[in-house]
Amino acid sequence: MCYHDLSEMNFNISRRQKNFLMRVDDASKLLRDYEEECYLNERINDRIIPVFKNIGMLGCPISTKYGGMGYDFLTYCLALERIGEEGSSVRTFLSAHTSIGQLVLQGWANEAQKREYLPRTTRGRSIIAFALTEPNAGSDPTSMEMVFEEKSDHYILNGRKQWVGNGTIADLLTTYAKERNSKDLRGDGKISAFIVDKDCQGIKRKEIKNKLGLLTIKNAELVFRNCIVPKKNLLGMKGHGLSIAYSALIDGRLSVAAGAVGVIKDCLTESIFYAKHRTQHGELLGKKQLIQEHLAKMVVSLESSRWLVYRAAITRQRLQHYVETFKRENIDWQMKLNRSNEKYIQIRNEADRLSAISKFYASNCSFDAANRSVQIFGSSGYTKKSRVARHFLDSRATMIYEGANEVLTLKIGSQSLGQEFRAY
Ligand SMILES: Cc1cc2nc3c(=O)[nH]c(=O)nc-3n(C[C@H](O)[C@H](O)[C@H](O)COP(=O)(O)OP(=O)(O)OC[C@H]3O[C@@H](n4cnc5c(N)ncnc54)[C@H](O)[C@@H]3O)c2cc1C
Repeated sequence: MCYHDLSEMNFNISRRQKNFLMRVDDASKLLRDYEEECYLNERINDRIIPVFKNIGMLGCPISTKYGGMGYDFLTYCLALERIGEEGSSVRTFLSAHTSIGQLVLQGWANEAQKREYLPRTTRGRSIIAFALTEPNAGSDPTSMEMVFEEKSDHYILNGRKQWVGNGTIADLLTTYAKERNSKDLRGDGKISAFIVDKDCQGIKRKEIKNKLGLLTIKNAELVFRNCIVPKKNLLGMKGHGLSIAYSALIDGRLSVAAGAVGVIKDCLTESIFYAKHRTQHGELLGKKQLIQEHLAKMVVSLESSRWLVYRAAITRQRLQHYVETFKRENIDWQMKLNRSNEKYIQIRNEADRLSAISKFYASNCSFDAANRSVQIFGSSGYTKKSRVARHFLDSRATMIYEGANEVLTLKIGSQSLGQEFRAY
């Protein structure tokens, strides 16, 4: 980091931002009891959409031009941090709908696509999902087997995606496929991205059952069999799908990290309360040094994760600002941004690096905090009725999705050494 970056780390928030965050706080409180009820019954929380729609949270970082609130990434992350306190299920709904959903369209769709699809999603009429992972392509999306064929006015998609968040209810998807080689029917071509609307025929969805946690949102397996996608629904340029997917993951990781900060905060709040009320061996648990050690570690995790996330959010905002200015000035912006724009590559790499570091760190810290909280609660923490137990189950997923933490470790390592050292 140079001194110039420090001057851009302004965490001041305006009255408007504060008012919005207070509404997020009220909405989160409103969801609390019902979220617990749904979690215990493993039922989708059907109040998330209306409650967040009311306060504009379904389009928090989306431009007002498309019905969003037009907030910056720091405000969005602060909102996700607060929502994360209510559980990673609720926050994951928003990560899927907004971070790897709407923001992908806002970043890469053409004007007609944005006008057609984004307002539906900011008003909650459509829920959007991101379908990249396949049975044989998880950490390595380049090995995907889903294929597309180009016909006169449409594409035909064949393949299978899995673990798609919001996939059971989404009526809009972004998905990714390789061009089918016409001779041997394999998909060898470069990956392209597509917007799949509910009108597109040929998709079967199946809910993924028996998940370990994240019980109030649903993940789906999607089977595409001769799914017809109109040509106008190609997202970005043909062959640029992988760049689009990777840029979506920058936002996805940032959202996971922000939510993880909320998880740590809630674990700490719950644990402090418990330690101040539970007596054993004639003394409050809070008086025991070993309990204080657990709490101190959580405090350190909270502070360190929080500032890392805020810095990543501010850097992501710089990238947004740069891209928007560039788009206004260049008709051919997608081509030029990707190929030769050194300034873009530098800001993008920094946003990518910080979002990977913050996701890696905050997700590990949140699982550790939840684990310590369960320990402080003892047997009272070993039931899903306990908030800390739910955080324990849910935060396990954050170490796997949006780039498993091993892969992020390798990414952070090679970003430090140089791409010639890339080990994954
Ligand atoms: C709750 C949940 C929600 C999800 N939501 C979505 C979604 O909305 N959309 C979507 O497309 N996907 C989603 N996913 C899928 C998720 O992104 C993948 O699970 C993740 O990318 C890892 O892929 P995988 O599960 O196939 O594991 P694999 O890639 O098979 O990896 C297995 C293990 O090996 C490690 N590993 C892999 N490669 C290397 C390497 N080179 N060196 C060292 N270790 C390595 C991994 O870190 C991991 O620990 C979700 C997953 C979960 C669990």
